[in-house]
Amino acid sequence: MNVPFLDLKAQYRTIKDEVHAAINEVIENTAFAGGPFVAAFEQEFAKFCGTKHAIGVGNGTDALWMALVALGVGAGDEVITTPNTFIATAEAISLAGATPVFVDIEEKTHNMNPAAIEAVITGKTKAIIPVHLFGQPADMDPIMAIAQKHKLHVIEDACQAHGAEYKGKRAGSIGIIGCFSFYPGKNLGAYGEGGGITTSDDALAAKMRMFRDHGQAQKYYHDIIGWNARLDGIQGAVLNVKLKYLNNWNDARRKHAAAYTNGLSALKDIIVPQEMDYARHVYHIYAVRVKERDKFMAYLNEKGIACGIHYPVPLHLQKAYAFMAKGPGSFPVAEKCASGYVSLPMFAELTDEQVAYVVEQIKGYYA
Ligand SMILES: *Cc1c(COP(=O)(O)O)cnc(C)c1O
Repeated sequence: MNVPFLDLKAQYRTIKDEVHAAINEVIENTAFAGGPFVAAFEQEFAKFCGTKHAIGVGNGTDALWMALVALGVGAGDEVITTPNTFIATAEAISLAGATPVFVDIEEKTHNMNPAAIEAVITGKTKAIIPVHLFGQPADMDPIMAIAQKHKLHVIEDACQAHGAEYKGKRAGSIGIIGCFSFYPGKNLGAYGEGGGITTSDDALAAKMRMFRDHGQAQKYYHDIIGWNARLDGIQGAVLNVKLKYLNNWNDARRKHAAAYTNGLSALKDIIVPQEMDYARHVYHIYAVRVKERDKFMAYLNEKGIACGIHYPVPLHLQKAYAFMAKGPGSFPVAEKCASGYVSLPMFAELTDEQVAYVVEQIKGYYA
């Protein structure tokens, strides 16, 4: 049996007619850059996240970058985040002119350890960016409490957490700003690049709407220096079709995750992800941890099962951040986790047979 890591074609087949109709409508209206189809999606996505505003932008990296600049973060400032994330989280901080400051993660959640934050707060700290890695929200209550105490902004990196919840609140609705990516492989993926920003703050929303469109609210009257970071009309229309199915797709991911966890948790040589009591995990990634990863992955590959690694190198050990001079041992939990991560196949359209096959092959490997 073949089990791909991700099969975007399987999802496309289930919504093909609707997607084609939506794309045709955009073309018939030549509403390509921003416009009514983006506005319609923004309304629905804000509702979905439980925020007053959603702003469609070019990608998740731009979303994080604009959020930081909108909050006044710039040169000389420090922003606290985790090294156990996709590089875009730190890149956005650097692009804003600020410096990323990492804190280690909790082993059981893979997310920022709230207990490590206060030790790195300085007079230059302006914001905290918790990342809801793999689709499970970070422990937001203590993070928000520390932020409030030290008057810091909290921007949620919810790029992997569309529809995830923390104590019943949707990801992207807890910090002052939430940032999303609609990269094709994300839980809500466009048919190209896309990103979104959520907030319930009117002034910040207005500012970020101007930012994405060259700092203008009225065409050719540029009040502030901005970006070209509009969401395409075609992406807005496709995302609006797909958003209707997102809750069902996330439920399917959760079902597959439960089957993996049921099947694998008795094996002593594999560590399965843990859903915290406070969380509704949406399993963008189902990452287990193993010893001798190369051998494990080669075995599964031989059995027709495609896996991934998210992520093999924590950010402080990336060449791009070598200037931080945080060598091996700086963030031991992140390093330990990164050395063992294997992401199993995970997408809504996986069949129960495929999931059962993956479980059986892993059991066979350890037997
Ligand atoms: C995907 C992702 C991003 C960046 O999104 P792009 O749309 O690719 O720019 C940022 N942070 C995290 C955690 C991501 O997974």
